[in-house]
Amino acid sequence: MDGKNIYMAINMQIDPKLIEMLKTASEFHGHTCPGLALGVVASKVALMNAKRAEDEELVAIVENDACGVDAIQVLTGCTFGKGNLIYKDYGKSVYTFYNRTTGKALRLSVKPETFSEKSRERQTKLFDKIRDGTANDEEIVEHNRQREERIRSILDKGENLFKIEEVEITLPEKARIFNDVICENCGEPVMATKVQGISGKKLCIPCAEKKRYDG
Ligand SMILES: [Zn+2]
Ligand SMILES: [Zn+2]
Repeated sequence: MDGKNIYMAINMQIDPKLIEMLKTASEFHGHTCPGLALGVVASKVALMNAKRAEDEELVAIVENDACGVDAIQVLTGCTFGKGNLIYKDYGKSVYTFYNRTTGKALRLSVKPETFSEKSRERQTKLFDKIRDGTANDEEIVEHNRQREERIRSILDKGENLFKIEEVEITLPEKARIFNDVICENCGEPVMATKVQGISGKKLCIPCAEKKRYDG
């Protein structure tokens, strides 16, 4: 149940600002899902304490690479390409927003009690069936209903989803531009800081790995 209907279904009594943000995030992300809704709420908290980043004045440190991060990128302006989105592969629903102007950082971590284990189990089972194409019509309807309910509940709980604390963090370095060097194997330009020296040759990482592998 993507498209307009989902917004109508979850619209009731939810902060209209959040619905707008969810729409924007869904356009970028491609679909509407609970993970995205979580990212929308995290972004709202971040934007209560900082302006959307035109440049790099706001930095997001995300500890997972799931759906919610797309909401954060499009809504807060902390993007992979600008270098003010830092990804840590920890598999945790933790988002830290560092405001360069104030020097303050807010750490948002999803409270453990946010989702009950029991409903999660049932959702995972349904999701597996849908992915494998073995779900019947009833199960598809049930899955969509549950997903909608989760999105609604996430938007409804809002910032209460998170434990929010002010933390001290080391200032991430601003993105810098380096000159390119030509790889002596493939002839392609490569950022100088990424060049590998292998047997006196300057190589790009894939060529260096190939060289090491081939011996
Ligand atoms: Zn998603
Ligand atoms: Zn190369």
